[in-house]
Amino acid sequence: MAKRIGVHLGTAGGASKAVERAREIGANTFQIFSSSPRMWRAPKPDPKQCERMRTLRADLDVGPLVIHTSYLVNVCSQSNETREKSVGAFRGEIERALALGAEYLVLHPGSWKGMTREEGLKLAAESIEKAIDGLPWQGTVFNILIENTAGAEYSLGGNFEQVAELVERLKAHAPVGVCLDTCHTHVSGYDIVTAEGYAETMNKVAATTGFDAVRVWHCNDAKAARGTKLDRHEHIGQGNIGIEPFRWLLNDPRFDHCAFVAETPVDEPGDEERNVRVLKSVVK
Ligand SMILES: [Zn+2]
Ligand SMILES: [Zn+2]
Repeated sequence: MAKRIGVHLGTAGGASKAVERAREIGANTFQIFSSSPRMWRAPKPDPKQCERMRTLRADLDVGPLVIHTSYLVNVCSQSNETREKSVGAFRGEIERALALGAEYLVLHPGSWKGMTREEGLKLAAESIEKAIDGLPWQGTVFNILIENTAGAEYSLGGNFEQVAELVERLKAHAPVGVCLDTCHTHVSGYDIVTAEGYAETMNKVAATTGFDAVRVWHCNDAKAARGTKLDRHEHIGQGNIGIEPFRWLLNDPRFDHCAFVAETPVDEPGDEERNVRVLKSVVK
Protein backbone atom coordinates (compact mmCIF):
# COMPACT_ATOMS: atom_id res chain seq x y z
CA MET A 1 0.00 0.00 0.00
CA ALA A 2 1.25 3.46 -0.88
CA LYS A 3 2.37 5.73 1.93
CA ARG A 4 -0.52 7.90 3.08
CA ILE A 5 0.47 11.56 2.86
CA GLY A 6 -1.78 14.60 2.99
CA VAL A 7 -2.63 17.93 4.53
CA HIS A 8 -5.35 19.76 6.45
CA LEU A 9 -7.86 21.15 3.96
CA GLY A 10 -10.77 23.57 4.04
CA THR A 11 -14.27 22.34 3.31
CA ALA A 12 -15.72 25.23 1.31
CA GLY A 13 -18.40 23.83 -0.99
CA GLY A 14 -18.97 20.77 1.23
CA ALA A 15 -16.78 18.25 3.04
CA SER A 16 -16.67 15.93 0.02
CA LYS A 17 -15.02 18.69 -2.06
CA ALA A 18 -11.90 18.16 0.05
CA VAL A 19 -11.54 14.63 -1.38
CA GLU A 20 -11.21 15.98 -4.91
CA ARG A 21 -8.98 18.78 -3.68
CA ALA A 22 -6.71 16.23 -1.93
CA ARG A 23 -6.31 14.30 -5.17
CA GLU A 24 -5.66 17.47 -7.17
CA ILE A 25 -2.70 18.37 -4.97
CA GLY A 26 -1.24 14.86 -4.96
CA ALA A 27 -2.43 13.80 -1.50
CA ASN A 28 -4.04 10.43 -0.69
CA THR A 29 -5.23 11.33 2.81
CA PHE A 30 -6.38 14.57 4.44
CA GLN A 31 -7.71 16.25 7.56
CA ILE A 32 -10.70 18.59 7.93
CA PHE A 33 -12.79 20.27 10.59
CA SER A 34 -16.33 18.94 10.49
CA SER A 35 -17.67 22.25 11.79
CA SER A 36 -16.42 25.75 12.40
CA PRO A 37 -13.56 25.20 14.86
CA ARG A 38 -14.52 28.30 16.87
CA MET A 39 -18.25 27.66 17.26
CA TRP A 40 -20.00 25.51 19.83
CA ARG A 41 -22.96 24.51 17.70
CA ALA A 42 -22.76 22.67 14.43
CA PRO A 43 -25.39 21.30 12.07
CA LYS A 44 -25.57 17.58 11.28
CA PRO A 45 -23.82 16.75 8.02
CA ASP A 46 -26.05 16.45 5.00
CA PRO A 47 -26.57 12.72 4.25
CA LYS A 48 -25.91 13.42 0.55
CA GLN A 49 -22.51 14.87 1.47
CA CYS A 50 -21.71 11.79 3.58
CA GLU A 51 -22.65 9.50 0.70
CA ARG A 52 -20.61 11.53 -1.76
CA MET A 53 -17.64 11.50 0.64
CA ARG A 54 -17.74 7.69 0.81
CA THR A 55 -18.10 7.20 -2.95
CA LEU A 56 -15.39 9.69 -3.86
CA ARG A 57 -12.94 8.35 -1.31
CA ALA A 58 -13.45 4.80 -2.58
CA ASP A 59 -13.20 5.84 -6.25
CA LEU A 60 -10.11 8.00 -5.77
CA ASP A 61 -8.47 5.87 -3.05
CA VAL A 62 -8.25 8.71 -0.54
CA GLY A 63 -7.95 7.81 3.11
CA PRO A 64 -7.82 7.71 6.01
CA LEU A 65 -10.12 10.66 6.62
CA VAL A 66 -8.90 12.54 9.68
CA ILE A 67 -11.16 15.03 11.46
CA HIS A 68 -9.73 17.53 13.91
CA THR A 69 -11.89 18.46 16.90
CA SER A 70 -12.89 22.09 17.45
CA TYR A 71 -10.45 24.12 19.55
CA LEU A 72 -13.21 25.09 21.98
CA VAL A 73 -13.59 21.58 23.36
CA ASN A 74 -11.87 21.17 26.74
CA VAL A 75 -12.83 17.81 28.20
CA CYS A 76 -10.91 18.41 31.45
CA SER A 77 -12.01 21.97 32.20
CA GLN A 78 -12.37 22.77 35.90
CA SER A 79 -15.61 24.61 35.06
CA ASN A 80 -18.57 22.22 35.11
CA GLU A 81 -20.34 24.38 32.56
CA THR A 82 -17.45 24.38 30.06
CA ARG A 83 -16.90 20.68 30.60
CA GLU A 84 -20.55 19.83 29.98
CA LYS A 85 -20.58 22.00 26.86
CA SER A 86 -17.38 20.24 25.77
CA VAL A 87 -18.86 16.78 26.28
CA GLY A 88 -21.89 17.81 24.20
CA ALA A 89 -19.73 19.35 21.47
CA PHE A 90 -17.39 16.35 21.40
CA ARG A 91 -20.37 14.02 21.13
CA GLY A 92 -21.43 16.05 18.09
CA GLU A 93 -17.89 15.67 16.69
CA ILE A 94 -18.12 11.88 17.09
CA GLU A 95 -21.59 11.76 15.50
CA ARG A 96 -20.38 13.77 12.50
CA ALA A 97 -17.21 11.67 12.18
CA LEU A 98 -19.30 8.48 12.17
CA ALA A 99 -21.73 9.94 9.63
CA LEU A 100 -18.88 10.98 7.34
CA GLY A 101 -17.22 7.58 7.70
CA ALA A 102 -14.02 9.05 9.18
CA GLU A 103 -11.32 6.75 10.46
CA TYR A 104 -9.91 9.22 12.95
CA LEU A 105 -11.05 12.08 15.19
CA VAL A 106 -8.09 13.95 16.68
CA LEU A 107 -8.52 15.50 20.13
CA HIS A 108 -6.27 17.75 22.20
CA PRO A 109 -6.76 16.45 25.75
CA GLY A 110 -7.36 19.95 27.16
CA SER A 111 -6.31 22.22 30.01
CA TRP A 112 -6.53 21.19 33.66
CA LYS A 113 -5.86 24.70 34.98
CA GLY A 114 -7.20 25.11 38.54
CA MET A 115 -6.83 21.44 39.45
CA THR A 116 -4.09 18.83 39.71
CA ARG A 117 -2.94 16.99 36.61
CA GLU A 118 -4.30 13.75 38.07
CA GLU A 119 -7.76 15.32 38.47
CA GLY A 120 -7.54 16.66 34.92
CA LEU A 121 -6.66 13.24 33.57
CA LYS A 122 -9.57 11.64 35.41
CA LEU A 123 -12.01 14.28 34.13
CA ALA A 124 -10.73 13.97 30.57
CA ALA A 125 -11.24 10.20 30.58
CA GLU A 126 -14.72 10.52 32.14
CA SER A 127 -15.78 13.23 29.67
CA ILE A 128 -14.63 11.28 26.62
CA GLU A 129 -16.42 8.17 27.88
CA LYS A 130 -19.59 10.19 28.41
CA ALA A 131 -19.33 11.76 24.96
CA ILE A 132 -19.18 8.42 23.14
CA ASP A 133 -21.57 6.52 25.40
CA GLY A 134 -24.30 4.81 23.35
CA LEU A 135 -23.02 5.95 19.96
CA PRO A 136 -22.77 3.25 17.27
CA TRP A 137 -18.97 3.03 16.85
CA GLN A 138 -18.63 -0.72 17.30
CA GLY A 139 -17.86 -2.51 14.06
CA THR A 140 -16.73 0.73 12.38
CA VAL A 141 -13.26 1.95 11.46
CA PHE A 142 -13.62 4.91 13.83
CA ASN A 143 -10.98 5.83 16.43
CA ILE A 144 -10.46 8.83 18.69
CA LEU A 145 -6.81 9.88 18.56
CA ILE A 146 -5.32 11.65 21.55
CA GLU A 147 -2.76 14.19 20.31
CA ASN A 148 0.40 15.15 22.15
CA THR A 149 0.49 18.91 22.80
CA ALA A 150 3.19 21.58 22.82
CA GLY A 151 3.51 21.20 26.58
CA ALA A 152 2.20 24.60 27.70
CA GLU A 153 1.53 24.90 31.42
CA TYR A 154 -1.66 23.01 32.47
CA SER A 155 -2.11 21.44 29.05
CA LEU A 156 -2.73 17.72 29.33
CA GLY A 157 -0.76 15.56 26.90
CA GLY A 158 2.47 17.57 26.88
CA ASN A 159 4.52 14.38 26.99
CA PHE A 160 4.10 10.82 25.73
CA GLU A 161 3.47 9.45 29.25
CA GLN A 162 0.38 11.63 29.67
CA VAL A 163 -1.00 10.64 26.26
CA ALA A 164 -0.38 6.96 27.10
CA GLU A 165 -2.07 7.31 30.50
CA LEU A 166 -5.22 8.74 28.95
CA VAL A 167 -5.32 6.04 26.27
CA GLU A 168 -4.83 3.39 28.96
CA ARG A 169 -7.79 4.70 30.99
CA LEU A 170 -10.05 4.90 27.96
CA LYS A 171 -9.27 1.78 26.02
CA ALA A 172 -11.82 -0.45 27.74
CA HIS A 173 -14.60 2.05 26.99
CA ALA A 174 -13.81 3.69 23.66
CA PRO A 175 -11.83 3.11 20.47
CA VAL A 176 -8.68 5.14 21.11
CA GLY A 177 -5.29 5.64 19.54
CA VAL A 178 -2.65 8.32 19.32
CA CYS A 179 -1.76 11.23 17.04
CA LEU A 180 1.76 12.58 17.42
CA ASP A 181 2.70 16.01 16.12
CA THR A 182 6.31 16.68 15.12
CA CYS A 183 6.14 20.38 16.06
CA HIS A 184 4.57 19.63 19.45
CA THR A 185 7.10 16.85 20.07
CA HIS A 186 9.97 19.24 19.29
CA VAL A 187 8.79 22.30 21.24
CA SER A 188 7.71 20.20 24.22
CA GLY A 189 11.37 19.23 24.57
CA TYR A 190 11.99 15.95 22.75
CA ASP A 191 14.95 15.81 20.37
CA ILE A 192 13.97 14.58 16.93
CA VAL A 193 16.54 16.73 15.12
CA THR A 194 19.77 14.82 15.77
CA ALA A 195 20.02 11.18 14.73
CA GLU A 196 20.74 10.06 18.31
CA GLY A 197 17.93 12.24 19.62
CA TYR A 198 15.48 10.81 17.10
CA ALA A 199 16.41 7.26 18.12
CA GLU A 200 16.07 8.10 21.81
CA THR A 201 12.75 9.89 21.34
CA MET A 202 11.37 6.89 19.43
CA ASN A 203 12.49 4.63 22.28
CA LYS A 204 10.34 6.83 24.50
CA VAL A 205 7.38 6.34 22.14
CA ALA A 206 8.00 2.58 22.37
CA ALA A 207 8.03 2.72 26.17
CA THR A 208 4.83 4.80 26.49
CA THR A 209 2.13 4.70 23.80
CA GLY A 210 3.90 2.07 21.70
CA PHE A 211 4.14 2.29 17.90
CA ASP A 212 0.94 0.47 16.94
CA ALA A 213 -1.30 2.93 18.78
CA VAL A 214 0.12 5.83 16.75
CA ARG A 215 -2.14 6.16 13.71
CA VAL A 216 -1.45 9.67 12.51
CA TRP A 217 1.66 11.85 12.51
CA HIS A 218 0.92 15.55 12.17
CA CYS A 219 3.90 16.66 10.10
CA ASN A 220 4.71 20.25 10.92
CA ASP A 221 8.03 22.01 11.06
CA ALA A 222 8.41 24.38 14.04
CA LYS A 223 9.00 28.12 14.07
CA ALA A 224 10.27 27.87 17.67
CA ALA A 225 13.22 26.09 19.21
CA ARG A 226 13.14 22.79 21.04
CA GLY A 227 11.72 23.04 24.56
CA THR A 228 10.14 26.50 24.10
CA LYS A 229 6.59 25.09 24.33
CA LEU A 230 5.57 27.58 21.63
CA ASP A 231 3.17 26.03 19.15
CA ARG A 232 3.88 27.76 15.83
CA HIS A 233 3.84 25.56 12.75
CA GLU A 234 6.24 26.14 9.86
CA HIS A 235 6.50 24.80 6.30
CA ILE A 236 8.20 21.41 6.13
CA GLY A 237 11.96 21.79 6.00
CA GLN A 238 11.94 25.53 6.65
CA GLY A 239 11.87 25.64 10.43
CA ASN A 240 13.72 24.55 13.53
CA ILE A 241 13.24 20.86 12.74
CA GLY A 242 14.49 20.87 9.15
CA ILE A 243 13.95 18.26 6.48
CA GLU A 244 16.06 15.33 7.75
CA PRO A 245 13.79 14.26 10.66
CA PHE A 246 10.88 14.06 8.20
CA ARG A 247 12.97 11.77 6.02
CA TRP A 248 13.63 9.49 9.02
CA LEU A 249 10.01 9.56 10.12
CA LEU A 250 8.41 8.86 6.75
CA ASN A 251 10.81 5.97 6.12
CA ASP A 252 10.61 4.56 9.64
CA PRO A 253 9.11 1.04 9.23
CA ARG A 254 7.64 1.24 12.75
CA PHE A 255 5.21 3.84 11.37
CA ASP A 256 4.39 2.14 8.08
CA HIS A 257 0.72 1.89 9.14
CA CYS A 258 0.46 5.65 9.84
CA ALA A 259 -0.96 8.55 7.87
CA PHE A 260 1.25 11.65 7.65
CA VAL A 261 -0.75 14.87 7.57
CA ALA A 262 0.68 18.39 7.40
CA GLU A 263 -0.97 21.25 9.28
CA THR A 264 1.38 23.81 7.83
CA PRO A 265 0.56 27.49 7.33
CA VAL A 266 -1.16 28.65 4.16
CA ASP A 267 0.68 31.90 3.47
CA GLU A 268 0.09 31.86 -0.26
CA PRO A 269 -1.85 29.80 -2.78
CA GLY A 270 -0.12 26.50 -3.47
CA ASP A 271 1.33 26.08 0.02
CA GLU A 272 -0.74 22.97 0.77
CA GLU A 273 0.40 21.35 -2.46
CA ARG A 274 4.03 22.34 -1.83
CA ASN A 275 4.13 20.82 1.65
CA VAL A 276 2.57 17.59 0.39
CA ARG A 277 5.14 17.50 -2.40
CA VAL A 278 8.03 18.01 0.06
CA LEU A 279 6.76 15.21 2.30
CA LYS A 280 6.36 12.87 -0.67
CA SER A 281 9.84 13.74 -1.92
CA VAL A 282 11.57 12.32 1.16
CA VAL A 283 9.95 8.88 0.88
CA LYS A 284 12.47 6.34 -0.39
ZN1 LIG B 1 -1.34 18.75 15.29
ZN1 LIG C 1 0.09 22.67 16.87
